Amino acid sequence: MSTAPAARRVAVLGGGILGVSTAVHLLREGASVVLVTEADLASGASGRSLSWLNSAGERPTPYHRLRLAGIDRYRTLFAADPTRDWLRFDGGLHWAGTGSDEDTVARHEYETAHAYDSVLVAPATVGDHTPGISPEAVGAVAIFNPGEGWVSLPHLIEFLMGEFTARGGELVTNAGAARVLVEHGRAAGVATAAGAVAADAVVVACGPQTPAVVAELGVEIPDASPVSMLVTTAPVEHPVRAVLNTPRAAVRPNPGNTLALDHDWYEESITQDADGTYSIPEEVVDELAAEAAALLEGRPHLTAASWKIGRKPIPGDGEPVLGELDTVPGCFVAFTHSGATLGLIAGELLAGEIMTGRRHPMLETFRPGRFAVRASAEAGRWTSGS
Ligand SMILES: Cc1cc2nc3c(=O)[nH]c(=O)nc-3n(C[C@H](O)[C@H](O)[C@H](O)COP(=O)(O)OP(=O)(O)OC[C@H]3O[C@@H](n4cnc5c(N)ncnc54)[C@H](O)[C@@H]3O)c2cc1C
Repeated sequence: MSTAPAARRVAVLGGGILGVSTAVHLLREGASVVLVTEADLASGASGRSLSWLNSAGERPTPYHRLRLAGIDRYRTLFAADPTRDWLRFDGGLHWAGTGSDEDTVARHEYETAHAYDSVLVAPATVGDHTPGISPEAVGAVAIFNPGEGWVSLPHLIEFLMGEFTARGGELVTNAGAARVLVEHGRAAGVATAAGAVAADAVVVACGPQTPAVVAELGVEIPDASPVSMLVTTAPVEHPVRAVLNTPRAAVRPNPGNTLALDHDWYEESITQDADGTYSIPEEVVDELAAEAAALLEGRPHLTAASWKIGRKPIPGDGEPVLGELDTVPGCFVAFTHSGATLGLIAGELLAGEIMTGRRHPMLETFRPGRFAVRASAEAGRWTSGS
């Protein structure tokens, strides 16, 4: 960690939730901030995310604790105005595939063992917990997690950008692929086709492009980002309030009486075109909409109004990558799966580190340097064994 004095001017690369959140938290702490992004705000994963706010299932304790802190920050935002139609806390409903009831029960037991709010639900009583679900669709046993919620990231980004502008942040959109400038071994700003922007510190929050951006600095961050799709339905009358995670469709309410849908069973049907964009046969999109409709009471007809395809950021070891690069002081990275759940807390903790120079203990296991340490340990094993 650098012992340099607190940075005053910070360049943030990437206009997704992690870049925008970090930028706003930096402004709150008194930095001057320039936010530079390739295309429009929310044009990456944040513009096509299911954005279920959760720490369901099993994961290492530090990651679980960070996600709970992430949910805590959303709850604070929610409490400030519970009428927002883009941030809700109406719970999550999960069940596994046929014959996997033991997995569902084991997941529930794991969740309750560390006091994550988790209720086992039989199909006939699902309506006592959350409305709008067809009991016939529910597996023999389901889990209702009352403390979970969802956010629409494009709405959140727009909301945060109101504060960004009010606090004097400078926004550069359509900058093309920018890169980090290094001078005397330290991050010194960013370079775009239009020229250089000098800064005391740089944040790389480029979603799935983050490993490529830091690779230019000689830093390796393993990347496991798959291609994924989010479908948004046409407006439909529905009483659904919870986020549904089921064997063939994930569903969440979305502003404007629409629903957001995703899953992973169709990933192999996605192809990349010569211009780098992705496509999927329309019948696969319709199949996902039909799978989602089958979960809902009265089986309403769901029409896919739009679908967006692109890479979902996932680091190679599945854990968040948050913090300063050991080999390029002044360059900070924010690259994570579950970036919706972590969006507010990751921005807050990174901004604190940048402005104070003090490492936050909750980010300790998520440092980018862990990959270099592992690589050199593996190289050492190989050498000693050869
Ligand atoms: C289908 C799907 C479902 C998901 N479900 C959930 C969920 O249920 N819960 C959850 O917590 N998370 C979920 N996620 C993950 C979450 O949405 C992402 O982790 C989060 O949106 C990532 O935000 P980001 O700011 O890191 O990246 P992005 O939103 O991708 O933003 C990065 C930005 O950087 C820009 N950029 C890239 N390279 C450069 C460059 N060189 N110079 C300048 N700009 C650049 C891009 O154009 C982009 O706008 C899901 C994601 C997807 C795609």
